[in-house]
Amino acid sequence: MGDVEVPLVDLKAQYGSIRSEIAEAMERVLASQQFVLGCEVEALEDEIASYCSAREAIGCASGSDALLLALMALGVGPGDEVICPTYTFFATAGSISRLGAVPVFADIDPASFNLSAESVLAAARRCRTLRAIVPVHLFGQAAPLDEILELARDLEVPVVEDAAQAIGARDGAGWRVGGRSAIGCFSFFPTKNLGAYGDGGIATTSDETLAQRMRLLRVHGSQPKHHHHLIGLNSRLDALQAAVLRVKLAHLEGWNEARWNNAATYGRLFAELGAAAGPGPVEGLALPVRTPRVPAEPALHTFNQYVIRVPAQARDELRAHLKAHHIDTETYYPVPLHMQECFGKLGYSRGDFPESELAADQTLALPIHPELRHEQLEAVVGSIRAFFP
Ligand SMILES: *Cc1c(COP(=O)(O)O)cnc(C)c1O
Repeated sequence: MGDVEVPLVDLKAQYGSIRSEIAEAMERVLASQQFVLGCEVEALEDEIASYCSAREAIGCASGSDALLLALMALGVGPGDEVICPTYTFFATAGSISRLGAVPVFADIDPASFNLSAESVLAAARRCRTLRAIVPVHLFGQAAPLDEILELARDLEVPVVEDAAQAIGARDGAGWRVGGRSAIGCFSFFPTKNLGAYGDGGIATTSDETLAQRMRLLRVHGSQPKHHHHLIGLNSRLDALQAAVLRVKLAHLEGWNEARWNNAATYGRLFAELGAAAGPGPVEGLALPVRTPRVPAEPALHTFNQYVIRVPAQARDELRAHLKAHHIDTETYYPVPLHMQECFGKLGYSRGDFPESELAADQTLALPIHPELRHEQLEAVVGSIRAFFP
């Protein structure tokens, strides 16, 4: 019997299931010949705002730009300090640095991989010019927003959510991410749960002033044309992307539920291997933890990634073993940001954030996309079983 191939994502299968809807939406835009911003983008902005329980949404060129626009709208600039996790995608801290501000790193909670509120507090104590906190809803699961919002209130700074991986995820209070902080930032990169056919992003807010500033900033600060109030950038969302995203938004809940169900299936199959949900220390496997654990609420964790832990010394060998059996995996993220060369001048070193460093060595992302078939999930678990004696 030949190996079952298991890609990390399968966008072709997804496209096959919505092909005619996409064709119709694209044709609508092509007939209008309006390609940048415009009514298609406005319609998407309304739909995303209401989906996230925010008053406004501002489409832009990418998730990275959504973060940049958010921080710019809040007036973050040279010398300002902004707290974010060290265990995240580069853009979280890159957007802070690009404004001349200083990322102040905090560690993660080992169970959820999300920002630890205690570590945020410790980071805040090191700050002199703290201007914002940027939690990341990592892998599709909400960070502990209640705790972080309360902390931010005490510190009198706004929270900007990096929700790039987590559209549709609900926080501990049951709200979808992106609706309760100053600004929520989302990415429509093709591999996110709501992916465009190219780059795209959006920022959500219920603050009219911030919304207005972001709308200005994304068009070089001009209103009307040729009259510039702010120094912004060109970061607009294309109408074709908006049209695609509107089609896909209608399927998002179903796809997120399919990811949740795949995670549940992994849980059952791995249970036979004796693996359980939990943080390290890891002798065998540790599965992702859903926090808080409310199994009846599929939207709590949207599983943009399904990330397991394995012993650090076995991780890369396991990856190679799975690759040899046509199973794609990834490591998110092999190098925490405080150990990146470009942030060297910030003065951090190995040992500063032990949980992030341990996660960087132990984590492995398995295929979790909604189009997976049962036999593919079985193939992944079977192949891992064969690796561990
Ligand atoms: C994808 C991602 C971004 C950036 O999104 P782009 O659209 O690729 O610019 C930012 N933060 C996190 C955590 C991400 O995963």
